Amino acid sequence: MMRKFKDIPYERPDATKLEPRLKALIERFGAASSPQEQDGLMAEINTIRRQVDSMFALCQIRHTVDTTNDFYDKENEACDTLQPVFEGIQTEYYRALLGSRFRHELEAKWGAQLFRKAELQMKTFKPEVLEDLQAENRLSSEYVKLKAGAKILFEGQERNLPQMDPFFESTDRAMRRRAQEAISGFYAAHGEDFDRIYDKLVKLRHGIALKLGFPNFVPLAYARLARSDYDARMVANYRKQVLESIVPLASALKRRQALRLGLPALKFHDEGLDFLTGNATPKGDSTWIVERARQMYAEMSPETDEFFTLMRERELMDLETRKGKAGGGYCTFIATEGAPFIFSNFNGTSGDVDVLTHEAGHAFQCLRSAGYEVPEYNWPTLEACEIHSMSMEFFAWPWMGKFFGPDEDKYKFAHLAGALTFIPYGVAVDEFQHWVYENPAAAVAERRAAWRGTERKYLPHRDFDGDTFLENGGYWFRQGHIFESPFYYIDYTLAQVCAFEFWGRSRQDRAAAWTDYLKLCGLGGSLPFTALVREAGLHDPFADGTIGRTLAPIEQWLGSIDDRRM
Ligand code: ZN
Repeated sequence: MMRKFKDIPYERPDATKLEPRLKALIERFGAASSPQEQDGLMAEINTIRRQVDSMFALCQIRHTVDTTNDFYDKENEACDTLQPVFEGIQTEYYRALLGSRFRHELEAKWGAQLFRKAELQMKTFKPEVLEDLQAENRLSSEYVKLKAGAKILFEGQERNLPQMDPFFESTDRAMRRRAQEAISGFYAAHGEDFDRIYDKLVKLRHGIALKLGFPNFVPLAYARLARSDYDARMVANYRKQVLESIVPLASALKRRQALRLGLPALKFHDEGLDFLTGNATPKGDSTWIVERARQMYAEMSPETDEFFTLMRERELMDLETRKGKAGGGYCTFIATEGAPFIFSNFNGTSGDVDVLTHEAGHAFQCLRSAGYEVPEYNWPTLEACEIHSMSMEFFAWPWMGKFFGPDEDKYKFAHLAGALTFIPYGVAVDEFQHWVYENPAAAVAERRAAWRGTERKYLPHRDFDGDTFLENGGYWFRQGHIFESPFYYIDYTLAQVCAFEFWGRSRQDRAAAWTDYLKLCGLGGSLPFTALVREAGLHDPFADGTIGRTLAPIEQWLGSIDDRRM
């Protein structure tokens, strides 16, 4: 059905009706006498799961576009409670699937990845942890609300957190410094709340891990993220490669930035400004940007043209920032409608264009793999998801002049340099979380000190210039993933390395690179991360040497640009 987003009806999933229905289907599945019969029951079960998940997605969207809407605020709370109930039923389904007498036939038809995911999922749930999971959801929501409720009086106006972002790109250094102080002021004022929420989350998650038979939360988090092909040891080795190969490049880029800005030393509040003449900005408002994006996707390929037409005609994007709207950006999928949805907070920076390449990359993949009958294959694991989005940012490079006009080169330089300098930060967030969950009894102050130590290791160039809150290790309060989606952050860096490879390949043979990209999007979640990477003709980022080889052309390109003239 091709209806517009606003016409999609929402109805809270009725657990009292659906739970017995699903359980009956699962029971029949277990007792079925042929693989065909099981197949039919799988289809029925998946239809209901798809409906339920679509309602959760719809509720999330309508809640985040306006957190002051009482109806969806209440529905969001209800969904927080309902989601674990359905997760519990899903576990029962997975148990039946894994124990199927016809597993061999089912695996031959649907592929092994469904069973790998099911096995990992099984390890993450027991009825005994249901209430803990609900509490975990409530705490995450509390964190989101605390941040969304930020009212920062700055430059004569009350502003939310995303509305503060542009000030970090101001060419007025004193303004940047004041903006940083205002943000630190907000987080410091609510410091006890952030610490309390996180402390509860850590102890709760540790307790859940113990109840499920894990030594601590780390392996549980990996299982939750359905990581079947790599473990914490491989990730630690990857971080080591980043430390050795990328941190020095990042520090050098920061020194270049200081030179460019004519500063003896780059302070934290300078990091947001890439050029003294100002950062690259899109040369029009949101309507204008969307129109340019339409032209770009029409020219890029028939597939992207069809995709973006659908997004516009069905109004599947909420782009502009407003008071009460949750922060950040995301893409989600309403499976019953075959409709991706893009949420963002436009603020007049180059980030607005990134939304229409990055989030659009996610949405594009959603559509390319919407046809899988197994909902597990609609999305891959999260590190693979970010390859679609980050690579789309690079495939869009030939059109950046359309958005940035004379700022095109500035945009490209800052984009590539920013992607590179991001990796050490992403890795720091990951190392911090390993420490936190390996030391769940640590005091709040120890946790802050651990963050500061990790920050110093991976971001040796970062200088907070005496900002007490940040010097005391409070930066991570703003990193939502740490609260809401533990251990989901290294994923961005893994994907960035893969996207860098697409960047290099698209400059050598665009057609071949695009074909592999389309293939990757079409494979959806039917394979684990490293297998998807292989299928897309990319190198495994965990393998020694991949980072060095992939970064070489990036370093060369950045070196060839005379950024002091920009
Ligand atoms: Zn993304």
